[in-house]
Amino acid sequence: ALIINDECIACDACREECPTSAIEEGDPIYFIDPDRCIECVGVYDEPACVSVCPVDCIVPDKDNVESIAELQFKYKQLLNEE
Ligand code: SF4
Repeated sequence: ALIINDECIACDACREECPTSAIEEGDPIYFIDPDRCIECVGVYDEPACVSVCPVDCIVPDKDNVESIAELQFKYKQLLNEE
């Protein structure tokens, strides 16, 4: 999953871009639900939030590294929920 670091300026640019609605407004910074983040694998060439973030504060979570297969599996599970 990706994680939002404390450089976040809470601009809200990323939230609507996320194809799995993994990004939520927090106080004081935004956060990503790791159970919903698929790093845009199978949807976009690069994570949509990373593309739009003006301060480049969305980075891979070193403590939660997932394989492509795991991310694809998670996406499938999320689609089944809807
Ligand atoms: Fe924070 Fe970047 Fe999202 Fe703006 S786009 S709310 S700075 S994480």
